[in-house]
Amino acid sequence: MLMQSLRFLFDILIPQRCFLCGTPVPRDGGLCPVCWSRITFLGSPQCLRCGLPFELEIGPATLCGACISDPPGFHRARSVFRYDGASRDLVLGFKHGDRTGRAPLFARWMARAGADLLAGTDVIVPVPLHPLRLFLRRYNQSALLANALSRQTGIRCCPDALIRVRHTPTQGGFGRRGRRANLQGVIRARRPDAIAGRNVLLIDDVFTTGATVGECARALRAAGAGSVDVLTLARVVRAGQ
Ligand SMILES: [Zn+2]
Ligand SMILES: [Zn+2]
Repeated sequence: MLMQSLRFLFDILIPQRCFLCGTPVPRDGGLCPVCWSRITFLGSPQCLRCGLPFELEIGPATLCGACISDPPGFHRARSVFRYDGASRDLVLGFKHGDRTGRAPLFARWMARAGADLLAGTDVIVPVPLHPLRLFLRRYNQSALLANALSRQTGIRCCPDALIRVRHTPTQGGFGRRGRRANLQGVIRARRPDAIAGRNVLLIDDVFTTGATVGECARALRAAGAGSVDVLTLARVVRAGQ
């Protein structure tokens, strides 16, 4: 009761603002209609496996070229929106700008985009940060999303299921294969008790080439996980992919 009254008072005194342009928006709105319309939300038609958006509906069970020639380590991946000029600040503000209060709303969007995946999920696991990076950044944005999603869905979250054992250089500039080589053996499962025999949903903020989540999926499967699906807030889609 007290918390509700305080929140009500807080909302009157400090109106919610659009995450991108600062225009006042209704409570928990996140984005104003103009900014909302600029975001490219992802969905069907898409690659059944990695979620890559297709321009045309090709068929109900179609895979992209990359998933056919070089199947990823995870089962399925889905994302809320495309990572581009319109959505960039939304992600960066959350990752580096201490806008951690956005996690519950982002998690609601993720629950919608990943409804099919969540239906079969036993445990939610965030992509880990190296302890040094976690110390410098003070929070793991993927763990914030995973915890918020767990609270909303009631599905257990295991934030320490994976660990990054080596600090890797920033992944920018590497291609898909280069990223994978760079990541080999970097991620390990340390909670096989929480993972073995369970369907895992991996959570990250951005899906770039899929190398990081692929490596996490391999570590989880080596620890006995059933299927490993991936749900991210944003996804990089390169021209010609
Ligand atoms: Zn706006
Ligand atoms: Zn694909």
